[in-house]
Amino acid sequence: MRCIGERVTGGRPQGGKADYDLLVVGGGINGVGIARDAAGRGLSVLLSEKDDLGAATSSASSKLIHGGLRYLEQYEFRLVAEALAEREVLLATARHLVWPTRFVMPHVPELRPRWMIRTGLFLYDHLGVLAVSRGTRRASLPGSRGVRLDRPPLASGLRPHFRHGFEYSDCRVDDARLVVANAMDARARGARVLTRTECVSALRERGLWQVALSNGESATVRAIVNAAGPWVKQLLNDRLRQPSRDAVRLVKGSHIVLPALYAGEHAFILQNDDRRVVFMIPYEGRFTLVGTTDVAVEEAASPQATAEEVQYLCRAVNRYLAKPANVADIVWRYAGVRPLYDDGTSDPSAITRDYTLRVDDDAGAAPVLSVFGGKITTYRRLAEHALEKLAPYFPGMKGAWTAAVPLPGSDFGDAGRERARAALEARYPKIPRATLGALFRRHGTLASAVLGDAARVADLGEDFGGGLTECELAYLAAREWASSADDVLWRRSKAGLHMSESQRARVAARMCR
Ligand SMILES: Cc1cc2nc3c(=O)[nH]c(=O)nc-3n(C[C@H](O)[C@H](O)[C@H](O)COP(=O)(O)OP(=O)(O)OC[C@H]3O[C@@H](n4cnc5c(N)ncnc54)[C@H](O)[C@@H]3O)c2cc1C
Repeated sequence: MRCIGERVTGGRPQGGKADYDLLVVGGGINGVGIARDAAGRGLSVLLSEKDDLGAATSSASSKLIHGGLRYLEQYEFRLVAEALAEREVLLATARHLVWPTRFVMPHVPELRPRWMIRTGLFLYDHLGVLAVSRGTRRASLPGSRGVRLDRPPLASGLRPHFRHGFEYSDCRVDDARLVVANAMDARARGARVLTRTECVSALRERGLWQVALSNGESATVRAIVNAAGPWVKQLLNDRLRQPSRDAVRLVKGSHIVLPALYAGEHAFILQNDDRRVVFMIPYEGRFTLVGTTDVAVEEAASPQATAEEVQYLCRAVNRYLAKPANVADIVWRYAGVRPLYDDGTSDPSAITRDYTLRVDDDAGAAPVLSVFGGKITTYRRLAEHALEKLAPYFPGMKGAWTAAVPLPGSDFGDAGRERARAALEARYPKIPRATLGALFRRHGTLASAVLGDAARVADLGEDFGGGLTECELAYLAAREWASSADDVLWRRSKAGLHMSESQRARVAARMCR
């Protein structure tokens, strides 16, 4: 339901015969990443998202910026190396949305021998360093090591017979907000971003695409990027009437959220007896996020975490937990559909997580580039690769630029995260630190744009609970395309998790006012 919110415009067409250089279909992480990169290279960009930004797969992930330790077992060295290098880039350019975490793997000799895990971790540490040192950065995260699980600080929550384990570094991310930050930067660089606007059809005519959108607009564009995620093939075949030899495999993954299952800020990577791994990740201060599953599905719309998946996840963590997780304790569950490139593998867990970009054109004009697969972790690099492939159609286009430019809110300069947060506290001395801390985590340096000239708590307007106030809600609607309660409660923030049913209903009523 769309109740409030604005259509934010910008980025007028640059002349020539087409209204826009590029139409990006899909406002998930890959679509907004490509739109941002293209706008920064001087292309005029229109982005159409049929729902909310990040509403599909990009807000339903495990929320990790990671190389993917388990992909080493599938020999995905290219993907792991690229993802580890991107981890460093995102740590530097999305500093308020990405943060390092230590991951602990309890040792279970009958599942994987010690030498195998040590070898995997050695590779993980060194692939990262190699990939990073080929660029200009140095690896900033500590390497892996063996740990004792029966002593502080890790002796919490696990059954006492798990005495040995390993720990290594990866990162966590606010996935939905990473999408919004990219869209905001795309807009700031001239892109026109339309949410709740579906690309209904596009046809090639005299070397251009003639596009129809669900808001009644039509436009001519020089090129299309098909970043429709789970709908990539459907868009190509049904809306653009393009045959394609590539196929996408839809693999659902579900997560559950429970009151904290253990103390500490480390995450666990738990080996399951089907050779998969399941994560337990500290979440939103007082919860644990548990995921995920791999279930082949036919349909992309409205995925649900089934009772069977929930049981599977509880069983997987209860092999390890001293105090078992109960289905009755689950406070939230969500599911997403991975749009994986079909590499012919039958096991859904083993299908490649790497991406494939396919360009098709009409005698050298009117290209469509389709994105198959990909990870949140690699979205920025994927965008660079996409624009490399489109470069021949835009001879004057500028070069790659996103590796060193912070996303909106992450421009801490040399000050660093703590100094930037301290500056916010100094500017708003009468606003409680907890409120400022939550705003800073969501908006980084843009927290002051949310607060404006608010001097005291009363200036923030109604307190909806869960750390959400009228002041922030108005900002989310005006600047971040939020137009429904779900946009606000489960994507722009996770306030919904901290609220009662009646508090959530109050936000829904406010959004429809
Ligand atoms: C359970 C799970 C866990 C994961 N965990 C991680 C992780 O921890 N780390 C990681 O790096 N990756 C992870 N991933 C992978 C990652 O989430 C996806 O690869 C990524 O989000 C895909 O982004 P996307 O932009 O391609 O697709 P999406 O986010 O699905 O975006 C596609 C968008 O296109 C829109 N759209 C479709 N058709 C049209 C149309 N005709 N007109 C307009 N808009 C349209 C849709 O509404 C949608 O918003 C995970 C995935 C899943 C499912």
